[in-house]
Amino acid sequence: MLHYAETHFRLPFSRLYRKEPTILIDAPFQVLPGLPCPVWLVIRKAHRFPVYIEEVYGEWKNAEGQSISFKLPIQKKFSKPFHFEELNFENPLHPGLWMLNIFVKYEKNKVIERWNYPLLPPKPLMINFLKEPPPKPAGWLAGETHCHSSFTSDSMEFGASIAVLQKAAATIGLDFVCVTDHSYDLRNEKKFQTLKEEIAALLPHPILIAGEEISCGNSKNENVHLLSFGNENYIEGHGDGGRRWWNTKPDLKIAEAINEYRRDSLPPAVFAAHPKLPMLSAERLLLKRGNWSLKDLTENNIQGIEFWNGFRGRDFYEGRALWIKCLLAGHKLLPLGGNDAHGDLNCYTAIAKPLWSLKCNQEHVFGVVRTVIPGTGKAPFSEIPQNLYITDGPALWFENGKLHAKSTEDIGKFLSITIFRGKDFFEKKEEMPINDSLDYIFEISLTNSLYLRAECETSCGKFAMTSAIYSLPAALES
Ligand SMILES: [Zn+2]
Ligand SMILES: [Zn+2]
Repeated sequence: MLHYAETHFRLPFSRLYRKEPTILIDAPFQVLPGLPCPVWLVIRKAHRFPVYIEEVYGEWKNAEGQSISFKLPIQKKFSKPFHFEELNFENPLHPGLWMLNIFVKYEKNKVIERWNYPLLPPKPLMINFLKEPPPKPAGWLAGETHCHSSFTSDSMEFGASIAVLQKAAATIGLDFVCVTDHSYDLRNEKKFQTLKEEIAALLPHPILIAGEEISCGNSKNENVHLLSFGNENYIEGHGDGGRRWWNTKPDLKIAEAINEYRRDSLPPAVFAAHPKLPMLSAERLLLKRGNWSLKDLTENNIQGIEFWNGFRGRDFYEGRALWIKCLLAGHKLLPLGGNDAHGDLNCYTAIAKPLWSLKCNQEHVFGVVRTVIPGTGKAPFSEIPQNLYITDGPALWFENGKLHAKSTEDIGKFLSITIFRGKDFFEKKEEMPINDSLDYIFEISLTNSLYLRAECETSCGKFAMTSAIYSLPAALES
């Protein structure tokens, strides 16, 4: 939790404290063909520091030397804890990657570029206007499985409003979003039900699913995070919330939290979140945070592991290795891809050194990593999918006893498509023959393997991997 951008500590020695609301401009990282790009002026904590915004102005630019300037008068006072003001100005007409330099003029001639985060240089917004929609098998649904909304709003971290999440999801090409605010931010049943009511009042598409990121106790009684989708009621978990720092004991063990999950159908849609997340020693010590062990993953009734948590860092590779260990031991767990975005639509801003400096990178951006599941006509994860893939670009899926791979010009040509056969406690690799095509279908057979799974990589550094399939009829059922 010390990771998130925060400028409002009332600590006199914080270099990051400012007597101003947080002001920033945000917009999705990509836009489906034919759609406009929504751009939001985000203002936070204006109830403590009301602010008058005079105007927003700036310029779009692309690598071909084209540019579009704009000026938008706002002339409004903002005084609520959260504002997400959608700005309407001219959009580029040509597809491709565009840079948006944007300025906010406020109060008496103060001007900021992109944001007023202290000591963090402004970063232009980078927006890819796609030539083609991201590839996906017909009838399948792509979604974000780990993100935080404005229901996460304490002194240290905040997410986007659920209406903003829905519009951003539609813009970038998502069919569903699992809203997974921390159990320690949701705090109680009432707040969780408010989240569900707000979701029920939205447009029907993209589908938003209320869930939770539950803090619960692993086998060493440390706090780990469990993602739940579509639970009827709030599940408690305040251990590592930092609000009762004298008491970091998990409220529920993993198994107890899963037992609390109530919905008409079984089994519960629960997944281990970021099983191998690196953390500061302060988090381990002060918040008693820990990681998921093999025992935690295999002895509880979880459906899968979210080891792709926004980017492929060390935690991705360690999490994937742990997942493969589970598969080889016969535990049919699903891989899950999410971003753990706290309202960040274009780049991720966070604390670099507590009370000292901020950072900005691409690690946890809403909707970059997707989990793609077969459509069933029911709400995503109301039944546990037997077959899925996770991706930040290409499509890669098993269907009708075949392996399919599909990319686009935006995503790049395939560099590799690999099948992994699990058998006798190890995986055997098989490279598929490829040329310059963006579209492949391979005949496959299980031939004495315990399971099959596949991975692929493209020339733009994009990646996809499938869940493990244990029989071809199961893949057919999709
Ligand atoms: Zn977490
Ligand atoms: Zn999270």
